Amino acid sequence: MRDKELYARILGLEKPWQVSDVNLDMKAGEVTIHLERIPGAELLCPECGKPAPGYDTRQRKWRHLDTCQYHTMLSAEVPRVECKEHGVLTVLVPWAEPEGRFTALFESLAIDWLKEASTDAVARLLGVSWNAIDGIMQRAVERGLARREAAAPTHIGVDETAFRKRHDYVTIVSDQETGAVLHVADDRKKQSLKDWYGGLSEDSLGGIESVSMDMWKAYITATLESVPGAESKIAFDKFHVGGYLGKAVDQVRRQENKALLAEGRPDLKGTRYDWLTNPANMTRDQKIRFRDLKTSALKTARAWGIKQLAMSLWTYSSPTWAKKAWDRWYSWAIRSRLEPVKKVAKTIKEHLWGIVNAIVLEVSNGPAESINSRIKSIKVRSRGFRNKTRFANAIYFHLGGLNLYPEAVGP
Ligand SMILES: [Zn+2]
Repeated sequence: MRDKELYARILGLEKPWQVSDVNLDMKAGEVTIHLERIPGAELLCPECGKPAPGYDTRQRKWRHLDTCQYHTMLSAEVPRVECKEHGVLTVLVPWAEPEGRFTALFESLAIDWLKEASTDAVARLLGVSWNAIDGIMQRAVERGLARREAAAPTHIGVDETAFRKRHDYVTIVSDQETGAVLHVADDRKKQSLKDWYGGLSEDSLGGIESVSMDMWKAYITATLESVPGAESKIAFDKFHVGGYLGKAVDQVRRQENKALLAEGRPDLKGTRYDWLTNPANMTRDQKIRFRDLKTSALKTARAWGIKQLAMSLWTYSSPTWAKKAWDRWYSWAIRSRLEPVKKVAKTIKEHLWGIVNAIVLEVSNGPAESINSRIKSIKVRSRGFRNKTRFANAIYFHLGGLNLYPEAVGP
């Protein structure tokens, strides 16, 4: 008798439910708590909440949190009612969601642990199968996405991230202000991004003030065709621009190093990372060594100088001044006689409108990039995903800013 009261208290059971029996199976290391309804208690339709006559009952079992290292199961005959309006339905129980095989507390604990550890590890720790824990995770995301209110972000970032192989990408749309992932699209094509925009209301689309992105044609066209006034809202991100210029500097260095080595000059040998490192992050020794290199007459030094100047042109408040400064930069870059640099310079000139937008709007893909690095660590932890849906759901689970927990909170 006493253990019945104890379990009722542990479970926080409320009328009309009570503990009818407790069975301890020492061999199996399992406690089963039998629950029953107080006889004669009123039954309610789960749809409308109105009293309804009983129809039949079904035996159900739920895995609950362990008590003193014993696996703990709840067991109950759950009635079905026959509502005049809604037909035959199973009544709600306060400890689990309809159809759930675990109590809400068990699922909540699994969700908390999944935030810190892999599905494998959580399955092991809780003593259930990988599929069971994966199911809890997938349901949590479904629940979270269904609860999420319609997105009305002001500043968004669009970026790509690799799925499995090098050339298999997904597109991530994020809210730059909250850092939440709003959408994961299957590929990086124009139509996928258009589809997402298409799901927003006209008000939401009009409310978008900036879209930060790489100079990627599919994203540009999708945004131009979907967001009103996009010509002044699309912002090309500084770090992507810097990335192209960095690659150009590296190409110049490789060509020049080859030519110099042929003449027996090792000037550029072993300097690859010096040119790629932001001078602000260099050690004292690196700085001293690099000072001579960057002021040398080498082509690589010239390419590097052009890149550095470009990276310093992101702080204008007037679009006119920003454009003037970039035009001057372009005429230097295009006369540099460095083919890789000239090529990037042309791309930049074509996209200057969006660079000027980025400068004036003061937006960058910084927040999106931090999402990207968190996605990388999710990938490492899960050691890969079987398919893109699982990959997308893991991103929503960890970075979607969703309310993942089951509705029923106790017991
Ligand atoms: Zn009803």
